[in-house]
Amino acid sequence: MSRVEELLSFAATVKGFMPSDEGHALFETGRAQRRGGTWLEVGAWCGKSAVYLGAAAEERGAVLYSLDHHHGSEENQRGWEHFDEQLVDPVDGRLNTLPAWQHTIASAGLESVVLGVVGPSLVVAEHFDQPLDLLFIDGGHGDEVAWADYRAWTPKVVRGGALLIHDVFSDPADGGRPPYEIYLDAVNSGEFTQHGGEGSLRVLTRH
Ligand code: SAH
Ligand code: MG
Repeated sequence: MSRVEELLSFAATVKGFMPSDEGHALFETGRAQRRGGTWLEVGAWCGKSAVYLGAAAEERGAVLYSLDHHHGSEENQRGWEHFDEQLVDPVDGRLNTLPAWQHTIASAGLESVVLGVVGPSLVVAEHFDQPLDLLFIDGGHGDEVAWADYRAWTPKVVRGGALLIHDVFSDPADGGRPPYEIYLDAVNSGEFTQHGGEGSLRVLTRH
């Protein structure tokens, strides 16, 4: 098996909510970027999407910042149908996905390619000055949080850079509105060209 094949099959075993066809689309989008770029994902969870993107980043000589406060979104807390007690920190009783994320990135051998950034998205965005060649928005899906991420991070995407948005559902029966709304805003802004995508993943390029 090639290194890439190994990473893609490993990614499929990581905890999370990234179907493999969408994960492969993340990988292919990353792979199509210019060499040596700076990439960032908002929403790391246990590192599943970071391995798909990281596989491409390794190949392209890029770096992926994987940002999360690691305490789960509002919608991920106790009572959620997929809530996982194994992710609860016994010390403070809070959800903590950082240890799982670290194990994932170490097992993938991507520790020099995928760099963790731990903290609230908006605080990081305020102090993050690097232009982004690829931005993947997959953080909190609540109305305020999703729009705030979109407004804080999207302006950092360079011309020719990629904007990816996850959990975009045009039919409200399939999922929440905010990711779909921010996607529509990006399309309607006239600043991006759309490339289709896969499942609930949308891929845009700034022109
Ligand atoms: N991209 C991941 C899944 C991310 S789940 C994958 O496909 O594998 C959404 C994540 O966003 C959660 O881990 C949650 O902790 C994080 N998150 C939500 N709101 C946040 C905020 N304001 N700042 C930082 N991280 C946030
Ligand atoms: Mg998602």
